[in-house]
Amino acid sequence: MDDLQKRTWAEISLKNIRHNYEAIRSTLPQSCRFLGVVKADAYGHGALAVSEMLQQAGADYLAVSCLDEAMELRSGGITMPILILGHTPPKYTETLIENNISQTISCYAKADEYSQAAVKTGKELKIHIKLDTGMSRLGFLCAGNHYSEGLQNVISACGLPGLIHEGIYTHFAVSDEDGEENEEYTREQFRLFTSFIDDLNKKAGIQFEIRHCANSGATLNYPEMALDMVRPGLLLYGYGDTKGKLGLKPAMRLVTTVSTIKIYEQGTSVSYGRRYITDKKERMGVLAIGYADGLPRASSNKCSYAAAGGLAPQRGSICMDMCMVDLSDLPQVDVGSEVEIFGETNSIYKLSEAAGTIPYEILCAVSKRVPRVYID
Ligand SMILES: *Cc1c(COP(=O)(O)O)cnc(C)c1O
Repeated sequence: MDDLQKRTWAEISLKNIRHNYEAIRSTLPQSCRFLGVVKADAYGHGALAVSEMLQQAGADYLAVSCLDEAMELRSGGITMPILILGHTPPKYTETLIENNISQTISCYAKADEYSQAAVKTGKELKIHIKLDTGMSRLGFLCAGNHYSEGLQNVISACGLPGLIHEGIYTHFAVSDEDGEENEEYTREQFRLFTSFIDDLNKKAGIQFEIRHCANSGATLNYPEMALDMVRPGLLLYGYGDTKGKLGLKPAMRLVTTVSTIKIYEQGTSVSYGRRYITDKKERMGVLAIGYADGLPRASSNKCSYAAAGGLAPQRGSICMDMCMVDLSDLPQVDVGSEVEIFGETNSIYKLSEAAGTIPYEILCAVSKRVPRVYID
C-alpha cells in the first residue's frame, strides 16, 4: 500500500476466506457441491480476488446478481460455472450462452422469452428454476393453492426448446434466525421444495442435476438440507456463525487513521447538529472516515472503535468524510495512529447493531473510495 492510500482502507484476508471455505466444506457430504455467493463485489471483499481463490480451492459454482457482475469475472479469467440470481434482459441470452453463464428462471413468461432468444442463436441456455416457497420474492409460486398451477408452469418451462434445466432452487426467509416458529417455517419451505421436485419427476419425468436451497443460515443450522449444493455467502466472509460452531475467521478489517487531535473544554459542542457536548475536558481525535466511506451515519454517537490501548467512543454526528472519537483515556493514540472500525478486535456486530442493521449491509456499504488491501 502506498502512503497516498494511508487514510482509510479495508484489509482483506483471502487466507481467512479459504479457511472459512474449508471449514464449511468439511461439514458437507462428499458429493455436495459448493457454490460461493460473490454478488455485490463478494460482499465488498473484491469479487475477482475471492473468485480466483475459490476457483483455485476447488469450489464448484459461483453466484452473482446480474450480468455485469458475471462478465467482470469472465473478463478476469474465471472459468468455473456462474449462476445469475437476478434478472437478465433476454436480449443478452447469447452473451449468457457464450460465456457459460446460467440464468435463474422465476416464471413461465421469462422462460419463454429466453427460450425464443436461445432458439434464434441455435444454442442452449443453462437455467436454474427458482421456486418461491415462502420468501415472497423471486420464483414460481408454489405454496398453498398455487401448487398445481406452479407445477404446470415449471413443467411447461422445462419443456421449452433452447433451455437446459440444470438446476432448481429456493431461498429461505428465516433459516438464520433462532426460535421454534422460524424453524417450523424453514422446515415447511424445505418440505414444499422437495415435494414439488418429487412431483415434477412423478408427473413429467423432470429431473435436475443440481437441487439447492441452503444459504448461510441453512448451511449452518440445517445440514440435512444441503441436497446437491450449498449456497452460502456471509459464512464465507467469516460472519453469521454467531455460536462459533465452525470457527470462522472474519475476512475484512476496516481501518482508518487519526488526522488531528485537539483538547476541548467542558461544554463544547462537537460536529453537525451539536449532538454531542463534552462533559469534561476532552481529547478529541478526528478520524479519516465518514459515511461516504460506508460508515453508517445512523451509528453516530453509538459506537466505539478499537485503538491502541482500548476503545475510543465515537462522538457527535458522523460526517461525509470524517468523524470524531474521544481519546481522553487513550494517551498513547497520536496523529497518524491506526484505528480499527471493525475486524477481529472490534466485532462488526457492534457497528451493525448501533446502526440498526445487519453485517451484510455494513460490508456492502464499504465504498469504492476505500482501497482493498490483500494482506496475504
Ligand atoms: C444472497 C443470496 C444467498 C447468500 O446468502 P447468505 O445469507 O449470505 O448466505 C444465497 N442465495 C440467494 C438466492 C441469495 O440471493
